[in-house]
Amino acid sequence: LMLAYEPAKRLARLQVNLERAMVNARMIYELLDLEPRQRDAPDASDLHVDRGQIVFDKVDFSYDDGAPVLTRLSLVAEAGKTTAIVGVSGAGKSTVIGLVQRFYDPDSGVIAIDGQDIRGVTKASLRGSIAYVSQQPYLFEGTIRDNIRYGRPDATDAEIEEAAALANADGFIREQALGYDTPVGENGVTLSGGQRQRLSIARAIVRNAPILLLDEATSALDNDSEKLVQDALDKIMRDRTTIVIAHRLSTVVSADKIIVMDAGRVVEEGTHRELVSRPDGIYARFYALQGQTAPDLLDGPDDAKAA
Ligand code: ADP
Ligand code: MG
Repeated sequence: LMLAYEPAKRLARLQVNLERAMVNARMIYELLDLEPRQRDAPDASDLHVDRGQIVFDKVDFSYDDGAPVLTRLSLVAEAGKTTAIVGVSGAGKSTVIGLVQRFYDPDSGVIAIDGQDIRGVTKASLRGSIAYVSQQPYLFEGTIRDNIRYGRPDATDAEIEEAAALANADGFIREQALGYDTPVGENGVTLSGGQRQRLSIARAIVRNAPILLLDEATSALDNDSEKLVQDALDKIMRDRTTIVIAHRLSTVVSADKIIVMDAGRVVEEGTHRELVSRPDGIYARFYALQGQTAPDLLDGPDDAKAA
């Protein structure tokens, strides 16, 4: 009986929360976090990020339906460096990024940040150390300022505007009639894909987390927007441990390490130079034949695939 009652209670609470306070970064996680599986362990401690190295050690994972999605997946994202993950659609790239945030736990194997198994740390401390920029950034009802502040509820207005400037968003924000106080969302101004991306990057900047998880923006952006978004991303990737699901060749080529995934496994890894010099390597073939008959390792946006 308690079991049936518990989710209903949680939903009711969520709704109250929704009505009460949209300006709370934690809400985003609560919304994504109805899964009861990843409760904090009773003896959970706070994650202490020193350098920010992320390690997957022989991780097996499947979603509820049981089909294996990751199989003995091991990888290291070095502290302060950029690790690009490439692979065809369905390879398991987004799952890797979800597991770092502990939306799910592995069936076996360990995911550790600076040597701490993430199952043993509080989720608040884990997620507080991570900024996630998705391909389809969410905007919430509220002003532009509120939407950036989701990154860190106690950010000052000055910090918000500084973040927006770094994200190349300050210009278009100031062009709005109400500037930072312009409402967005269903009842607010309509922003382009590139503008939404830059707001979500500003949100990540304000968060100032040592770990950045990035599902790179794709073709939905026009050229000017793409350049501005890319500049903004380059800035926040600097000096952070970044795992980027790369959709753009330039990101891949400039990454400190490239991980090629296929069917839930790491099939190749190395720098661009190392991988292109591997005869018959998957990446080398892809790079030599880009846009011709090579498998499209850079994947595409989900909506483009569906179309
Ligand atoms: P990628 O990002 O490389 O396209 P994903 O990590 O999204 O790959 O997906 C890997 C596999 O897991 C795919 O077969 C996909 O259908 C499956 N999958 C992804 N998310 C879910 C989910 N929430 N529930 C069940 N299966 C999922
Ligand atoms: Mg994906």
